[in-house]
Amino acid sequence: MSVLKFRNFDGYDQVALAKGDDSGLCAIIAIHSTQLGPAVGGCRMYPYAAEADALKDALRLSRGMTFKSALAGLPFGGGKSVIIGDPKREKNQELLHAMGEFVENLRGDYIIAEDSGTSPEDMKVIAQRTSFVTGIDDTIDREDPSPATAYGVFLGIKAGVAKAFKGNDSLLGKTVAIQGLGHVGYHLARHLVEAGARVLGSDINTINLQRAQQDLGVEAVTPDEILLQTCDVFAPCAMGAILNETSIPLLKARIIAGAANNQLATDSDDERIRQRGIVYCPDFAINAGGIVDIYHQEQGASRAERSQALASIGDRVAVILDRAQQSGVGSQRVAEWMANENLAPKKPADSRVESSLKGAA
Ligand code: NAD
Repeated sequence: MSVLKFRNFDGYDQVALAKGDDSGLCAIIAIHSTQLGPAVGGCRMYPYAAEADALKDALRLSRGMTFKSALAGLPFGGGKSVIIGDPKREKNQELLHAMGEFVENLRGDYIIAEDSGTSPEDMKVIAQRTSFVTGIDDTIDREDPSPATAYGVFLGIKAGVAKAFKGNDSLLGKTVAIQGLGHVGYHLARHLVEAGARVLGSDINTINLQRAQQDLGVEAVTPDEILLQTCDVFAPCAMGAILNETSIPLLKARIIAGAANNQLATDSDDERIRQRGIVYCPDFAINAGGIVDIYHQEQGASRAERSQALASIGDRVAVILDRAQQSGVGSQRVAEWMANENLAPKKPADSRVESSLKGAA
């Protein structure tokens, strides 16, 4: 297998490309940062049309992981890996072993975990070739991270509602439109319904949609219409880049708060949302519940300690939204600034946010 490593890749610690052995593996590992610890991040397997698309995904996702862990105060860096291929047809033991060797090659800078297209079972196969794998220790009774992610998003939504409704975070009678009723979206809908909200939902998977309708009374909306709903909160819980030049002008929500990673298609979408007067709860701040809970489970934390760690997500989102309002910049930019504060002073601070924060302190 040929492995090409690019160090200091445009602000990234390291980007490595593996391809060309008998297994057919074509994979990229992007390590955005190891300043706070090894770069922990999932391995996504997807039939990308081109290597450039896979690289873009790995770069964006690994950067998001750096910010997510740094903001949440976790001792991890940010990394992500992608395997180019259809997991249903092309995933096999030989390919996973080759992926394990690829990870081993980076000597612990990157720690691999499951993501979409890979499973805990796949990680066990990868672990036959490398020890730099997380999520496979059977002695830890690890729970599915999605409910914790959903609960963090729920708390973030309450912080957003409090910002938009003069300090009142009640969801009673509020309307929330959820895009994607999968692992996170379903549990999020449950919290919202329990809190008295009206929940509209869409999913391209009819089984997931019907489950939410039948179990929770979610009102079904077509995938094309979900973005156009007049609602208090739009919660993207499906895919990334959903907030863009085309979609933002169409939104009829006061708040955007959901689980999907990389919701903004470009950095300028943060400002686009701000100018529309929509409260945006930054993705990596609001969707950290899963990784926060996994970390605390592995530290042997009690239920109470784990709940406290999750509660801090809502508090952090509230601080971000306050600072964004005070400084007159987008909330994603503020969240990145706050995450960078927790990293070593490698990156230049955002002077406009910094000066306004100093003024506010
Ligand atoms: P999932 O695959 O279980 O659910 C996603 C759902 O979205 C699926 O039911 C899918 O059919 C649906 N979907 C896809 N495209 C759609 C579209 N155009 N319109 C409507 N529905 C569509 O994934 P998940 O674990 O629930 O994660 C949801 C999002 O949150 C993902 O972006 C994921 O990366 C992110 N996230 C998840 C976690 C977690 O703990 N699971 C943590 C952080 C971030």
